[in-house]
Amino acid sequence: MALDLVLLGPPGSGKGTQAARMTEKYGIPAIASGDILRAQADAGTPLGRLVRSYLDRGELVPDQLVVDIIRHRLSEPDTEAGFILDGFPRTVPQAQALDTMLAELDRPLDAVLYLQVEGPALRERLDHRHRRDDRPDIVDHRLDVFLDQTAPLIGYYRDQGKLRLIDGAQPPERVAAAIDEVIRPLLGAGGAPSRPSSRR
Ligand code: ADP
Repeated sequence: MALDLVLLGPPGSGKGTQAARMTEKYGIPAIASGDILRAQADAGTPLGRLVRSYLDRGELVPDQLVVDIIRHRLSEPDTEAGFILDGFPRTVPQAQALDTMLAELDRPLDAVLYLQVEGPALRERLDHRHRRDDRPDIVDHRLDVFLDQTAPLIGYYRDQGKLRLIDGAQPPERVAAAIDEVIRPLLGAGGAPSRPSSRR
């Protein structure tokens, strides 16, 4: 049984921190759409320059672009025992595209973990980061974009019965423990994810 997860939450909710820890613990790759896009932007190609223009404004890059990146990434062999998506999907069309992709592979998502943190705490955390899109005005815009375009995914995954709420305002080790509680029942008898049986 593979362990296929999505980490959902507003900017600053701690997705990256938890994704890194989960990779260590469960041995499955964390796929951070923001990291992939920043690497593209840094490459300075024409596509990279286009991506950069969205990142710097705190806007979402177009769905098709991100969906293609993720489709490609999920075709790599290290995802066979599972994956943690961090920052994708971020819109309902992205979530639908992901469902279609995973249905073709016959490996539906196991769970969507929503890291819940309220606005003021997020702003406080983002003030202490030093990424170029963490300027206060851009941060406010990213939070608005989250509420407008990404928050609808909470209902989308709740309707699928996949949503698991995690209190993301706790200290990181408490958040980690809450995540582990949710994951434990998803693991096979061996306690660690294994390759999907259909592909053995
Ligand atoms: P944060 O969670 O702090 O917002 P990310 O690294 O996940 O940080 O995202 C940074 C930026 O990358 C977003 O503001 C957006 O411009 C772009 N981005 C990341 N993931 C996506 C996505 N799935 N769809 C569209 N744009 C994305």
